[in-house]
Amino acid sequence: MVQAYRLLTARFTELEMDYPLHLGVTEAGDGKDGRIKSSIGIGALLEDGIGDTIRVSLTEDSVHEIPVARKIADKYNRNQLNPANIREEILIHNSVQKPDHLYKEFRNPFSYSRFFSDSLPVGDLRLGENLLIRVELNVPHESKNGSEIISDLKTLISRNPDLPQPEIFSFEIRENADLKKLLDVREKIETKFPFSLIINRGFEIFQPDTQKIIAKFQKIVLNPSDYISDRKPFADFLKFYTGKLKSVEFRISESDLIIIPELVDFLNSESITNILFSFQGEEILHGYRKLAFQLKDRAFPILLEYTSRDIETCLYDASISLGGLLIDGIGDAIRLSVPGANPEELLSLSFDILQATRLRISRTEFISCPSCGRTLFNLQETTARIKMKTGHLKGIKIAIMGCIVNGPGEMADADFGYVGAGPGKVHLYKGKEIMAKSVPSEIADDRLVELIKQNGMWVES
Ligand code: SF4
Repeated sequence: MVQAYRLLTARFTELEMDYPLHLGVTEAGDGKDGRIKSSIGIGALLEDGIGDTIRVSLTEDSVHEIPVARKIADKYNRNQLNPANIREEILIHNSVQKPDHLYKEFRNPFSYSRFFSDSLPVGDLRLGENLLIRVELNVPHESKNGSEIISDLKTLISRNPDLPQPEIFSFEIRENADLKKLLDVREKIETKFPFSLIINRGFEIFQPDTQKIIAKFQKIVLNPSDYISDRKPFADFLKFYTGKLKSVEFRISESDLIIIPELVDFLNSESITNILFSFQGEEILHGYRKLAFQLKDRAFPILLEYTSRDIETCLYDASISLGGLLIDGIGDAIRLSVPGANPEELLSLSFDILQATRLRISRTEFISCPSCGRTLFNLQETTARIKMKTGHLKGIKIAIMGCIVNGPGEMADADFGYVGAGPGKVHLYKGKEIMAKSVPSEIADDRLVELIKQNGMWVES
């Protein structure tokens, strides 16, 4: 959808046509999935400056679509409605020389290709290259003691194996006491999951005592500009830390983007490996694009980070920012942070965003139309019923469409389709092929399950 709108815009520009564009993600589905898919598709285009009106199509009653559309559009309307912003942007655009050394378009906006990187280790796990996009889970721990943190982690580690599992746990480190607390947790909890420490600005990493503790963890996050002026001790520290199973993440701010070429030269001259990058700033999507441009052809993996004040804002904004980057091939891992959030909720949201970009499918993907006057059955009830029966299947796409007029075309990439064919009748599809015609709706769910079984894609829940 994003690529098609970009193509349309490019063609308009070529032909000097200037019609407004109406954006929508068709067949987004319902619930969290529908909201995430709509945010990614519509938001990625609004971030590109494409789109004048939007529609959100959920498999839910229409009244639920309006607040979702507002949440997606608000950020862009806020900027536009403030005349001072517009004036300021025009002034900047006209007066400032374009900083080409910071960003030139390097992506192909019309097709997907993953940003090139080597892989690196985080404990026993590897990330980057063409590996799965990894999920780092930020575990809030500020108000908790060691036993409470252990109990939170045990809940996550022992969760139902059918649910997506955590891969890396990360913790903010603000003071020495945090380091000691986490070391105690690490030693008491027996887990294969790597720990990542986010070392906040100004932390003294050159102290031997600190280094001894840090060395027990598999990844650390640093702001390199805090240390780069002490080249020798910094190089010694990085060589000491980045060993066989450990990596350092450099978290770059907007003002630090400029030091990346110097930083990369420094790493190369000291033969330091196992480095990845992340970005922290106001404009996440554009900041990461600049970071990716700076790292282009340099093979460092990129971790996408999004911090939000609450889980609902995170759902919309992280979908737009991180989802928008992922569909352009940028990002080898993601980390969501919401102070005080339930870690299980954050973990699910991380995998839901990856699922919606289709870069990491961890459960059944449902495609369902929003329903209209042509719908031949109760779409919401049917979708919920089929979800209940097939939701445990990993990695397959099932479409539930209201009619045969538009349904087959709009579910074209689904593995299986359940399409209304007439009152009380359903056609069942395997890919684009009709496998069973006019199946009575009372037995259509069972016939769909049979079809999935015949194709060897069924597993018992
Ligand atoms: S019933 Fe048919 S036309 Fe209506 S929304 Fe569903 S697929 Fe589209």
